[in-house]
Amino acid sequence: MEPERIAFVGVSDLSGHFRGKSFPLADLAQRLTHGVGLAPSNIMMSAFGPIHETPYGTAGEVLLIPAAETRVEATFDEGPPEIFFCGDIVTLEGAPWGGCPRGFLKRGLEALEREAGLRLYSAFEQELVYTGVVGTPLPYTLDALRRQGRFGETLLAALRQAGITPDSFLAEYGPGQYEVTVKPAIGVAAADQAVAVRELARAAAYRLGHRAIFAPILTPDGVGNGTHIHFSLLDAESAPAMPDPARPHGLSRLGEHFVAGVLQHMPALTAVTAPSVASYYRLQPNRWAPTEVNLAAVDRGAGLRICPLIGDDEASRRRQFNVEYRVADAAASPHLALGALVHAGLDGIRREMTLPDPGASSDAEPLPASLTEALDRLAASPDARGWFGDGLFDLYLQLKRAEVRALEGLDAAEICRRYADVY
Ligand code: GLU
Ligand code: MG
Repeated sequence: MEPERIAFVGVSDLSGHFRGKSFPLADLAQRLTHGVGLAPSNIMMSAFGPIHETPYGTAGEVLLIPAAETRVEATFDEGPPEIFFCGDIVTLEGAPWGGCPRGFLKRGLEALEREAGLRLYSAFEQELVYTGVVGTPLPYTLDALRRQGRFGETLLAALRQAGITPDSFLAEYGPGQYEVTVKPAIGVAAADQAVAVRELARAAAYRLGHRAIFAPILTPDGVGNGTHIHFSLLDAESAPAMPDPARPHGLSRLGEHFVAGVLQHMPALTAVTAPSVASYYRLQPNRWAPTEVNLAAVDRGAGLRICPLIGDDEASRRRQFNVEYRVADAAASPHLALGALVHAGLDGIRREMTLPDPGASSDAEPLPASLTEALDRLAASPDARGWFGDGLFDLYLQLKRAEVRALEGLDAAEICRRYADVY
């Protein structure tokens, strides 16, 4: 008997889980136009599974349409291939549905191109804990690479099959912690690929009898798993638009406005990019994670890091130039996180926001200390409400506040365990 292939279409949703529905691959042509049906309440599924609250109840219907260009297909030595798509949530008439995270990112990218003639060029650097490591090798050692067995090479092969180009796979600082980075991509593709990396890492680990855990931190005093977002801007000719070695921070005028927008809105963005209760155990001193609303050149403790440039070839330095947003983790949907960043950066361009001069002494504001504090900052931002649209903004706040309530009374170690079980 020849097995029949099954495909999945999903959306990295408000909880950052890749949820959707599957269908026979043989029906793909029809599914690419008609999608799969969802209840609007699907978007209110919590980080832990159950719907805690929803304004929709059981009513209504929306469609999740696979985006053909996001197709991921990877075969493994054993078991069925992974075939999945990222999708867009639309109304029955085919119009974008306001609650769609991918639509939120696409709206920001379209506005960036329309208003400023710029495209976003970005790459996700993601950390995870692999449960199949033998023993406790020291951080960064060759032995730490060796003792993860075939996980890394299985993951890299799966990424290549999916048309995603790995940049690096390496042993990180925490016990069992690894990091995988892929090459940058233009626009929404970077977020689609970030979803694919997470899912293929989970797939590779599963085939080996283990898990790839992307939860923000596994124990309250441990080392966190960051999802760092490296970004730059391209102009209409696809030339780098962010660098200008003659200006402060090495940033062009537009680049400065964009980065200043991200910095200015960072406390509100934190609710979107570090969106779990456990995220705030990661954002603590002495663990290479950011703690302040700040920008610094070549400093891994900063909220925004201007990354180092290698060599002295000017054209190459311009192509390398990127800024790293470090306040994110994998409880965030890559589409929501990147979308929030784009909308904030574009706001900086619109208002011609500026950065303090490098070296200027300023007392940086601390990042929000808890998810509740971050959600309050988000809720208090009329700008952010405008980017999301009233519908999505209120849904997000409702979902995340219910998540905080669901964990009330649990200690930090138990909260970490709950997240490690599901991310
Ligand atoms: N694990 C750190 C974090 O939580 C980052 C380490 C690094 O610089 O890659 O963000
Ligand atoms: Mg790292």
